[in-house]
Order: sequence, then C-alpha cells, then structure tokens
Amino acid sequence: MRTSLHRSLCALALFGLVACAGEERRPSVLLVSIDMLRADHVSAYGYERRTTPTLEALAADGVRFERHISSAPWTLPAHAALFTSLPDSVHGCVEGSGNALAPGVTTLAERFRDAGYRTAGFYAGPYLHEAFGLGQGFEEYAYCVPEAADLFTAEQVAAWAGDPAAHRRSHHGVTNPDVFKASSAWLEQHADEPFFLFVHLWDAHFDFVPPPSFAKRFADSAYDGWVDGREFFFDPRIRADMDARDLNQLLALYDGEIMWCDAHVKLLLERLDALGIAEDTVVVVTSDHGTEFFDHGQKGHRRTLYDEALRVPLIVRAPGLLPAGQAVQGVTRTVDVGPTLLELCGLDRVAGLEGQSLVAAAQGQPARLRPALSELLADQNQLLSVTTDRGRIVWNRATDAVAWFDLQADPDERSPRTDLEEGLGAELAQALAQEVQRLREAAERHPIQAVAPELPPGLEQALHASGYGGGGD
Ligand SMILES: [Zn+2]
Repeated sequence: MRTSLHRSLCALALFGLVACAGEERRPSVLLVSIDMLRADHVSAYGYERRTTPTLEALAADGVRFERHISSAPWTLPAHAALFTSLPDSVHGCVEGSGNALAPGVTTLAERFRDAGYRTAGFYAGPYLHEAFGLGQGFEEYAYCVPEAADLFTAEQVAAWAGDPAAHRRSHHGVTNPDVFKASSAWLEQHADEPFFLFVHLWDAHFDFVPPPSFAKRFADSAYDGWVDGREFFFDPRIRADMDARDLNQLLALYDGEIMWCDAHVKLLLERLDALGIAEDTVVVVTSDHGTEFFDHGQKGHRRTLYDEALRVPLIVRAPGLLPAGQAVQGVTRTVDVGPTLLELCGLDRVAGLEGQSLVAAAQGQPARLRPALSELLADQNQLLSVTTDRGRIVWNRATDAVAWFDLQADPDERSPRTDLEEGLGAELAQALAQEVQRLREAAERHPIQAVAPELPPGLEQALHASGYGGGGD
C-alpha cells in the first residue's frame, strides 16, 4: 500500500526536497470497541432509531459485516479473543472471577509493536484492566476514569467480580470524554508514526445515564415514571414483567448512550482528519457483546448465547485498501479482526492466529467464511454455540442438551429444535462437531489453559446417524 502521506513525500523527493527511501509507510490502525453494543440497536445496521449517524457514514466509506458474532457474551473473553485471535477456552480468560491472559500469549498490540508501530490503549471498563493481561504490547495502556486509580488497584480488580460496591461504582460514570481526551492527546503525539491505537468506549454498557440531551433524544417526553437508567442490574423493578412504558424508557436511555458513543467516534474521526492522517489510518469499530432486555426473559449478559448477546457491529474503513459501501453478508468472528488488520497493514505473515483475514471477503472476492464459535464458561454456565449463515446450534455442556434455531425462519430464536438427524439440524450438528474438533486442535497448538470438550453422547449418535464420521475440515 502506498499511502497518501508516502505519495506526498515521494512527490517532494522528486524536487530534491526530502529523501524517499522507497520504504512505504504502513497504514496506522484505530480500533474502537463500543462495549455492549447490540447490532440491532445500531442504525448503521438498520435500527429504526437514528442511533449511529457516524457509523452510518463510516460504513458508507468502508465495509459493514452484517453477521459479526462475538466469541463470548461478556467483556473479558471477548476482548481477549479480539486481542489474541484465539478461541475463548484456548486463551483461557473465561471465568467470572477473571482469569488473566497468560503473559506468553502474543497479542495484536505486541505484533504491531514488534513491527515498529507505536501502540496505546485507552479504556474505561474494569475488565480491560491490565491486571487481566490485556495491556500486553501497549506502550501506553491507561484506565481513563479519574478516580479509577483509587478505586482499582490490580489486586482489587482481580477481586472485582466479587465486590458489588466496586461493580456499582464502575458502572455509574460518564467516561467517554476522558477516554477521548487521552486518545486524542496520544494521537497528536504520534500522528507522524505508524500506530495501533485501541479505544474502549464504556458508556453504552449499563448503567444508562447519558448526558441530558442524549437521554432525551429517544425518550417519550411525556414519560414521568421511575426509570432513570440506574441500577439496571440490581433494581428488582427492572424485570421481565415490568410495564412496557418503563421498558421503553430504559431502551430509550440505552439508545441515547449508543448515540453518545457514536458522537465520540465522530470526535475521533475528526481528530484523524485534523491531523491529516485519515487516509493513512484503518478504522475499525466493533463491540465485545450485546445484552438482553428480556428478549428471552432475562436482563444483562453472560447468561445465554442468543443473537441479542452475541451479534455486534463490525465496520472497517480502509482508504485505498477496501471498497466503500461494501457489505459482507456471511458470518464473521471476533478472532477474524486481528488477521484482517494485520493483512491490511502488510503484517500478515505471522503464525499463531486461529482467526482468518476478512480482506478478500471485504473486497467482494469469493471467500470461505467459517462458522462462529461462541463460548460461555463463566459462573454456572457451560454453553458452546456455533452460528452459521442459516442457523445456530447451542450445546449445554453441563447437561449435554443440544438445541438449534433456524435463523432464517426463526430469527428471534423462539423455537428451539432438537432433531439432528437430517436437514438443517444435521447440518448444524456437523458444524458443531467440526468447530469442536478445531477447538480441540487449537488447544493442542496453544497449550495455554486449554479446554478440550468431549461431544455429548446424543450428538455423537446423531452425527453417526447422519453419516458424519468426524475429522473433516
Ligand atoms: Zn463488555
């Protein structure tokens, strides 16, 4: 890739003004994770409320991945998968108590740093804390909450999940401006060098307390009820049978938070423009997981593997490298983001990644996308799902129950099915067996803290009946 900056320098070289060594500058990367962003609440993905005008514009200038499925329905494993391109049970950050990423694992930031990039990460959610190992490879990695240094030492964060008071405090704040401020200041210092900048926006995650103008944006102006966006997780009045007007207010506040995050993506893009590096920077916006608003009777996430918890946006703008306005329809995965960025930056000849680059698919070329494996191994859950273009199969490893959904006929996942002998059921059972086999092989290649599950007996019988012998690709 020949960036516009490089072209400009070479043009100057023609006039003997600067030396042009022929070494092309690699593009920089801005990777934005908007925590807890359901794709179906994003207007760039067709949501009726105009929550994300910036992401709409970004998608118009880049590529939108329509069915991007997270590796996990909660923060720590999904970000660890984003940073390592390893499945959750392979990288090992899967427990609710928060296992740290092993120091020996190579992260995306380390790959960029080792290639000569400047690297930095700015975040506001406690599970991103360096105590969990996600700071590996970042020259600067900062928790951008003013009081966080007092709230969270590494030891406190390690015990964070068991401390309701710390949990509450970490969810109440308005943090986007602090994350933007730190990111913007770092960008100004490093605009003339190739960089990998990770920005984590936390405000869309509950609690839902956007600034007033964003709080009012989608709310019913006549609403005079008790919902104020606070204590989403702990308030017992926020439950499945709550009044529809109260639930609508809650959703309006969540959508306001999404728009508040979108506004900060806009500020970041404007910084790139002002610094003259927008054409030389690959911009990625994604999320770690969605959340449930009683879609299947529950609230929050880290509970189930339905679409509301797993389907998130992935938008990539790469001027001169990827087309504008392209949409990729097939299923893509958290672990694919890293290989995609490395290929776009010419750093793709690296080993040890279990994801695959999406560049060919993004360029509209024929590409074989893989089904998405998602895992939920935290708390009392032992769930594993595989999502294909046509359906999703979920295996409860604690009970060995297997259920599947036809996502075309039943996109809201209302009608679980258990027949596995023929048709889509057999197809999904085979996809599950293949992905479990790949997971087993990945665990052998990366002996970190691997989990190598055994297939449930019922599924093995069904696979046998449908003619699947195992061991295939
Ligand atoms: Zn999260």
